[in-house]
Formats: sequence, C-alpha cells, structure tokens
Amino acid sequence: MRALRLPSWGRPPVLTDIDQPTPRGYEVLLRVEAAGLCHSDLHVLDAGPGDMPFPAPFTLGHEVAGRVAAVGPAVTEIAAGDRVVVYGPWGCGECRRCSAGRENYCDRRAELSWAGMGLGRDGGMADYVLVPSTRYLEPIGELDPVQAAPLSDAGLTPYHAIQQCRAALGDGSTVAVIGVGGLGHLAIQILRALTPSRVFAVDVREEALAVADRCGAHLSTRASADTGRILRTASGGYGVDVVLDFAGTSSTLDLAARCLRANGELVVIGSGGGQLTVRKPGPLPQGGRISLPFWGTRPELAEVISLARSGALRVEVERFPLSAAHEAMTRLRAGDLKGRAVLTPD
Ligand code: NAD
Ligand code: ZN
Ligand code: ZN
Repeated sequence: MRALRLPSWGRPPVLTDIDQPTPRGYEVLLRVEAAGLCHSDLHVLDAGPGDMPFPAPFTLGHEVAGRVAAVGPAVTEIAAGDRVVVYGPWGCGECRRCSAGRENYCDRRAELSWAGMGLGRDGGMADYVLVPSTRYLEPIGELDPVQAAPLSDAGLTPYHAIQQCRAALGDGSTVAVIGVGGLGHLAIQILRALTPSRVFAVDVREEALAVADRCGAHLSTRASADTGRILRTASGGYGVDVVLDFAGTSSTLDLAARCLRANGELVVIGSGGGQLTVRKPGPLPQGGRISLPFWGTRPELAEVISLARSGALRVEVERFPLSAAHEAMTRLRAGDLKGRAVLTPD
C-alpha cells in the first residue's frame, strides 16, 4: 500500500510502498477515505532531530476517516464496512486520564514515543491505517468522510478549547478568533452554534476573512497595528472576554494581551512558537487567565460529530489526491488555502 512517510527529521516526506498491516487482537484496519492536512504537519516537517517528543520514521496524517476493512480476532463492537473517524491523540490507554477518555492529557505522555496517530505512530496519509483499539473509532453514519476527517482535529481542538472557557462565553460576551484557517473557521462555527457570544475574527489574509464571514463572524478584520483598538471598540471599550489564538506568534500573543478584558481568558492553540511575558504587573490584564489546550477528549469527539450531523458545522474543504500531498503542503505553507486541505485516495 502507499503511505506518505517522514523518513527522518529534516527530510521531505516520501510517498512510498509499504506492507499493508494485518490487525491483531483489538486492532482495526481502516481503508482511508480522507486525511486532513494540519498546520501541525508542517511544524513536524520543519522540525529537526530532538525538536519533537517522538522519533521518525512514521506515516503522516492525524485527521482520518475511513471504512473498516478488517478487524482483529478480539474485536466485537465494529464490523467490516462501518464508516468511522479516528480519535487521534492516542495515549497509554491505561492511566486515569486515558481511562476517562482524556487521552490528550495522558499522564504517561512523557514515557510514550508518540503524541498520537501520525505523530510518532503511523497515520492516515496512506491507503490503510492500523488503529490499536475500537475505543479510538467514532461512527460517522452518513456524514461525508471528507467532512468527518477534519472534524477529528480542526473541529475537536477548538471545540475542546471552547468547552474549557464556556463560563466566559455567556450572554453579552465577546470573543476574538485570531487565525481563520483549518481550526479557526470551525471555531467560529462552534462558537455560533453553542454560545450567544459576539465573534470577532482576525487574519492577515483577505480570503480567510471572507471564510470568517461565511462561518458567521459578527466582525472580521485584517490584522494591523490598529486591530487591538478595533477589537476594544467592538467590545464596548472593555476588551474581549476570550481570545482564541490559532497562530500563537509573538505578534498575535501581544495583540491578545492588548485586547483582553480584565478577568478574560487567553487560549493559546497555535504552535507558532511566540512568547508572551507573564509578570505582575505586566502585559496581561488583572484577573487574566492563560491556557494551552491540546487536541480534545474522546467524549468531545462524539459531540463534535453529532453537532456536524445535526447540520451545524460545515468544513470548507479543498481536496487533493494523496499523490498530490506535496502540492497541498506547498499551498498550506504559502497561505493559499481556504479552510482545510483533505487528501483522498487516487
Ligand atoms: P492554518 O494554516 O490552516 O491556519 C492558520 C491561520 O492563521 C491562517 O489563516 C493564517 O493566515 C492565520 N495567521 C497567521 N499569522 C497570523 C497573524 N499574525 N494574525 C492573524 N492571523 C494569522 O493552520 P491550522 O491547521 O488551523 O493550525 C493553526 C495552529 O494550531 C498551528 O500552529 C497548528 O500547529 C496548531 N494546532 C494546535 C493544536 C492543539 O492541540 N493545540 C491542534 C491542531 C493544530
Ligand atoms: Zn493537527
Ligand atoms: Zn495514559
């Protein structure tokens, strides 16, 4: 079967032929129908030896939907032909966090040689992917796999981030979404579906602001020296209750600190490597809180899929065949994509 492999750190990914795995025990083999391309994949490709907490080589792809092709002899809950999406942040599977479905915060993460599927373990930018357990599979029913795949990260990650600060997103609240790419455009839709908050979108790209408008943002504005003032004015002069930063660069963190309301929540999701000083007194407002959420929980993935099946979420997708993965990556890097790039079998 074909698989897009990272051969070693610092080398470009290669589409190569490898043996198709056979499921044993509780394992499940999926025929991949869609694999989303995340900006984190570019961070992985740009990493040098030792930068990531897991070794190469492995097959890329951590947003995956497909059809069950074969199951190990111990599997009873699922059968060949079922359509599923994969929960990607595989943990140890045994600690208290993992047992509670919070594998994204596995207590033994530091001991593991992977951060999830496609991140140290073979992922779904391939014809088939081997999933270690049925607990990582969420049925998608009639949902299009091309829609479902991005929901497992580009949907789940903002959903989790938003759930963590739901108390600040009540009546009369305001929220800024910085970065309207794969994750950000779904963040806006989730906020509109679940909260009464007024949603302000910020991006450096006009096309991304057009996506924000389609997703239901109340205001969208191009990042400039004036953005902090614009967001403050739009929130009645107080500052926004929540900032969801999907870029995480020094300039977006600085903007976030400047436009945050007293007692506001700064949620840093983007892995842009930026820095912000935490000091009292300092750039953050009084009572300010910062969090660094990672991916989401298994129950939350079920909730995201059910929200999408109810019609509340629509992923903006640009499709590429698996053989054109390099082109998709080049377009993502150039900021030349709307929403999410999804690889499909060719
Ligand atoms: P993306 O490239 O699709 O979207 C990023 C968006 O941010 C783009 O629209 C871009 O134009 C915009 N942007 C960049 N610089 C900006 C700036 N200075 N001001 C305003 N907007 C700016 O990327 P994505 O796949 O949505 O991922 C976003 C980030 O989140 C990446 O860093 C990724 O690694 C990270 N990520 C984190 C988690 C997590 O669990 N915390 C999960 C997935 C992705
Ligand atoms: Zn990702
Ligand atoms: Zn664990």
